[in-house]
Amino acid sequence: MPIDATQPYDPDNIFARILRGEIPSRRVYEDDYAIAFHDIAPQAPVHILVVPRGAYVSWDDFSARAPAEEIAGFVRAVGNVAREQRLVEPGYRLLANIGGHGGQEVAHLHVHLFGGAPLGRMIAG
Ligand code: 5GP
Repeated sequence: MPIDATQPYDPDNIFARILRGEIPSRRVYEDDYAIAFHDIAPQAPVHILVVPRGAYVSWDDFSARAPAEEIAGFVRAVGNVAREQRLVEPGYRLLANIGGHGGQEVAHLHVHLFGGAPLGRMIAG
């Protein structure tokens, strides 16, 4: 079920638990601002989730409330993951789902990073 992007932050959401190491993940990156791990149900040959360490429900929450240092750190981390995964050439896609129409299911901000093959049009029907 998609979440309401305006809901309060739930510290027991699944990505908060992955951040705390309570649930295993295939982690590929971490720094002071973010971690990244493989999506459990990949929708492309490479499908990685980049998650800020801070407690933000969604892109809306993050962009409104996060200090500039955390925003810069998170954006930098997303780029670092793509470079480390050698995705810059041939290319990749970023996606953030927000709230109901976006189909967001996990209530902790995450950016999907897709790659490893031509990805087709932006939105599949
Ligand atoms: P959303 O729809 O919220 O943008 O995407 C949530 C993503 O999290 C989905 O692609 C889903 O496969 C992934 N996911 C959900 N639970 C887990 C989990 O426990 N571990 C990992 N690695 N990915 C998960």
